[in-house]
Amino acid sequence: MAKSTGQIVQDSLDALMEDETFMPDCTGDERKKAFTSLASILSTPNHVNKSFLRIPLDNGKVIRVPAFRVQHNNVLGPYKGGIRFHESVNEEEVMNLAALMTLKNALHEVPFGGGKGGVVINPREYSSKELYMMCKKYVQYFSEILGPDKDIPAPDVGTSAREMDWMMGEYKSIRPGVPYRGSFTGKSVENGGSLGRREATGKGVYFTFRYMLHNFLNDQGKWLSNLDNIFAKTALAHKDKTITMAIQGFGNVGSVAAQEAYQCNYLNNKVVAVSDRNVALYNSDGLDIPNLIKYTSKNNGDLPTDEKQLKQAEVQAEIKNRDDVLTLDVDVLILAALEDQLHKDNMKEIKAQIIVEGANAPVTGDADKYLSEKGVIIIPDILANAGGVIVSYFEWLQGRETQFHSEEEIYKRLFDKMKYTFDTILPQFFGDPFPLRQNCYIHAVMKISDILYRQGKLY
Ligand code: GLU
Repeated sequence: MAKSTGQIVQDSLDALMEDETFMPDCTGDERKKAFTSLASILSTPNHVNKSFLRIPLDNGKVIRVPAFRVQHNNVLGPYKGGIRFHESVNEEEVMNLAALMTLKNALHEVPFGGGKGGVVINPREYSSKELYMMCKKYVQYFSEILGPDKDIPAPDVGTSAREMDWMMGEYKSIRPGVPYRGSFTGKSVENGGSLGRREATGKGVYFTFRYMLHNFLNDQGKWLSNLDNIFAKTALAHKDKTITMAIQGFGNVGSVAAQEAYQCNYLNNKVVAVSDRNVALYNSDGLDIPNLIKYTSKNNGDLPTDEKQLKQAEVQAEIKNRDDVLTLDVDVLILAALEDQLHKDNMKEIKAQIIVEGANAPVTGDADKYLSEKGVIIIPDILANAGGVIVSYFEWLQGRETQFHSEEEIYKRLFDKMKYTFDTILPQFFGDPFPLRQNCYIHAVMKISDILYRQGKLY
C-alpha cells in the first residue's frame, strides 16, 4: 500500500525533529507543541468533497459515478492539483495524492497549497460526449469550491488539455465574473494554456535525473569523491559507460522523458525498455523512441504488442510482459505510471541503481525502506515530477497577465526553478543520514511551518 497521508506527514516530522535549524530559538516544550500542531494540521486534509456524478450515456442509460475533490492544505496559496479519471480512484488515494501536492508545491516554492480530484471511471470505456458530460457535471458539483484563488485543478492520469478546456468552459458559464482563465491549468494553448505544459512533467523528470548526475561529476568527468561510496559499487562508476534506462509508462510523462533521454547528447544514456498497460518492449541497443511516439500517437496511446505492429512502427524490440520492465538489469528505472509499483513482493528483484519517480507515490513504504538501505538512490516524486505543476503556475500567471511566453522561455524558467530546488536539497544530501525523500520532506514541511509560525498558528 502507498503511504497514507498521516505516514507521509509523520515521516516529514520525524525528519524535521532531528533538524536543529528548525525553530532554533524555541524551548524544547515550544518545539514539542509546534510539532503537535503541525502534525494535526498536515496529517488531515482541510476538506474532503465527494459527490456522485449523474451521467447520461449515449445508449440512453444514466449512471452515477463517485467523484472527489480533496483540499489538503492552503497555507501557501490556493489548493492546486490534478483531476484523475481512473477506475481505481478512491477517497484515500485522493487524500494521499492531495497531501503530496502540498509538499510538492512547498518544496519548489510554488505559491499554492495541495489538492487533488478524482472520478472513478475508466475513460477508455466512454465516448467523447460522455466524457464531456462528466467534466461538465464535475464542475457543476464542485464549482463553489473551485476558482483561481481557491482551488485550481489540472490534468492528471486519464485527463488532458481537452478535459481542462471543457471544465473551464463550464466554469465560465456558471460562475460569470470570476477570472476564469486561472480557474484551471493544463488547458490547450488556444484556450489560454501555456506552451510546454503538456511536456513539462516528462521534461522535468529527465532534467532532474540529468542534473543530479551532473552534480555528481567534477569537471574532468570523474565522480565526486564523497559519492564514491554510493557509486563505486554501481555500474555507473564510469562516466564513459553507457547508462541504460527502463521506463515504466509511455503516456505524457514516460514518453516525453524517453524522448529527452533519446536526444540527450550530454549524457551517454540509452532507453533499452519501455512499457505501458499492455506490454514491455526491450532492445539492449536502445529503442527507437521517436518511432514509438509516432506509433502511439496514431494508435490510441498504445505501444505495439506483436511483431506485426512492431514492423508497422518500424521498431526493433523484444516483446516482454508488462511488469518485466521493473526488474530488468538496467542502471536507471523511471517510474511514470501509477502508484505502488515497487512493493514488498518485487522489491528484492529490482536491479536499477537509480529510481526516478515520475509518477506520484510509485514506491511503497516497504520498498522505499528496503531499496534505500541497499544504497539505491530514489529521486522522489515531489522533487522529480513537479514540472507539471510548476508550468501550471506559469500558466496561471500568464492568464492573469494575459501575456504569454515562448516555449523556450517556459522551459528555461522551469529548469531554473527545478535547479534551484535541487541545489538547496543537494548539499544536505551529501553526507546526510537521510535519503533524498526525507530531505525533500523536511524542506517542504519547514516552508509550511515557517509560514504557520509567522502567522501565529503553531501554538
Ligand atoms: N497532476 C500533476 C501532478 O500530480 C500536475 C498538477 C497541477 O498542475 O496542478 O503534479
